[in-house]
Order: sequence, then C-alpha cells, then structure tokens
Amino acid sequence: MRTIRILARYATDGPPPRAVTEQGLCRKMADPDAWHPVREYRQDPTTTAALETCRACPVATACLDYAVARPWISGIWGATTTRQRRTLRAAAAAQRDAA
Ligand code: SF4
Repeated sequence: MRTIRILARYATDGPPPRAVTEQGLCRKMADPDAWHPVREYRQDPTTTAALETCRACPVATACLDYAVARPWISGIWGATTTRQRRTLRAAAAAQRDAA
C-alpha cells in the first residue's frame, strides 16, 4: 500500500526536493498511511499526530512549498491538509488579484 501511494504521489510530477525525501520525519514513522488519511479532519488522532510530526520536521517549509505548487496532490504535506493548502492557494490568488 505504501509503495502504491508513494508512486501515485510522483506519477504526475517529479519527486519532492531531495531534502524532503531524505530528511522528512515522515520517512521514519511506523505508519506512513497517517499522511494519507481517508478523511483529513483535524480532530482525527492519526491526522493530528501526523500534523504534529510535520510541525517538528526540519524540511516542512520545502515540503509545503512543493505541495502548494501542486494542487493535484493530496494528503498531509508541510503540516497542512489538502483543504488547508486549497485555502492558502485561494488566499494567494486573491492577494495577486488585489495587487
Ligand atoms: S513536513 Fe511532514 S510530510 Fe513533509 S517531509 Fe516533513 S514530516 Fe513529511
């Protein structure tokens, strides 16, 4: 299952920056599926634990940049859920439109 999800993540684009793939804390976690929850509700303990791990991750900024730039990818990246990144993109677009 993990391999399929990893391949799916990279199928439509190049892989994340090398620092993310080599230094991301999620690489060492026992349950990588936690970063791909069926539902990304923050109240879910598994999702909350994954988000907390991301907040302590040394490459969270690069990870978030990668995911924000790719609206087609889902799951938890850079301490954000898919929905939160959608909100970030919308806010950035609104800011660009206002400028
Ligand atoms: S920020 Fe989160 S998803 Fe990104 S590499 Fe770090 S632990 Fe993994």
